[in-house]
Amino acid sequence: MNKFIEVTKPLSAKELKLQVLANYVYRKSPYWKSVLDAQNIDISDFGMEDLQKLPVLTKGVLQKNMNEMICAAPSEIIDYVCTSGTTSSPVHIPLTNNDLERLAYNEYQSILRTGATRDDIFQICTTLDKQFMAGMAYFMGLKKLGAGVIRVGIEPLETQWKTILSIRPSYLIAVPSFIVKLIDYAKENGIDYQNCSVKKIICIGENIRDLNFELNALGSKIRKQWNVQLFSTYASTEMATSFTECLEGKGGHLNSDLLIIECLDENNKHTAPGEVGELVVTTLDIEGLPLIRYKTGDLCILHTGLCECGDIGPRISPILGRTGQRLKYKGTTLYPSAIFDVINKFQLVQDSLLTIEKDEVANDIIKIHLAVNFGASVVKLKSAVKSVVRVLPEFYLYETLTPMRKKYKVDRKRKLVKVLDFR
Ligand SMILES: [Zn+2]
Repeated sequence: MNKFIEVTKPLSAKELKLQVLANYVYRKSPYWKSVLDAQNIDISDFGMEDLQKLPVLTKGVLQKNMNEMICAAPSEIIDYVCTSGTTSSPVHIPLTNNDLERLAYNEYQSILRTGATRDDIFQICTTLDKQFMAGMAYFMGLKKLGAGVIRVGIEPLETQWKTILSIRPSYLIAVPSFIVKLIDYAKENGIDYQNCSVKKIICIGENIRDLNFELNALGSKIRKQWNVQLFSTYASTEMATSFTECLEGKGGHLNSDLLIIECLDENNKHTAPGEVGELVVTTLDIEGLPLIRYKTGDLCILHTGLCECGDIGPRISPILGRTGQRLKYKGTTLYPSAIFDVINKFQLVQDSLLTIEKDEVANDIIKIHLAVNFGASVVKLKSAVKSVVRVLPEFYLYETLTPMRKKYKVDRKRKLVKVLDFR
């Protein structure tokens, strides 16, 4: 007689991690216990479908319920990182020792995608202190790889070049607009930058590609002047995970054993393929502050399908902007990144900031603040911008934007902040 045995499909590593996450937050966090109880979900069997039943988590809810969401005891916390606070007040995020290990593993995986080996030397040209996560994450990831690291941080251009010429790094990790300044400095000071040791640059904080993965104006500005390979990377402090391009340069790869991602529209429904949506993340393996369906506020397009590098996981497009920065003009939707793509094509622009306000009848008013060379004409720039935004924004010209950046305290990550939203 045949004996029927009930066979259950074994859980994938990701499903297992999700189940562990649900059980962990249920036991450790009063906030998540109440959310899960409200849904009447069987925690012992928590799966991908159950995840979809849970509400999305906004930054506001996170900030309000932070104390009830932290899962680790104070004695288990090693490091406190801080979000940039560019769009709202900063969030302090606690990391346990295992969280730091996870962060190192994440960056190690990301750096490997760029073809790095332990023979490479990396010069980190970003902030390493001020509770900034990325600088520390790079250092730990590179240590795991066994590569050399030069923690120059945000030292002046002269110091950056002195270190490049003496220690001969093969990689830089930097904000792309800073690379432009690095090139300008080399030209002005007779540094043979074309033949220096740097071959690859990991670009953080600003897009270097457009939605077709071609280099945008900023990326082209660097590549036209310097024969280096550029890699875009995107991350946020809350998710403690990065999306980095491989050698193919076709979107930021997900480290799929560390994060579950969704792309949601304004009604929190999954977007259709190719549609712009908000990146929503569920963190795996985090002990301090695990997040479930957290709305990053960053807009992108999700790409699925095999990458030429062989990775089958999803990739994300360049970030189009923040959800709050979606601009509506005469029925069309516009993102600030489209304006910067135009502005960056003009060599005369030294620095730029965009402010968004509402007028008395609730129309969006865009003001473009530009630091330009003395006496330069912006007529061509204005008409180029007009061809993109239809309604011409207001332009304000300055010699430098430093006082404005100081006033609004927006230079923490070295001119990373480009948009000030006062709506
Ligand atoms: Zn790839």
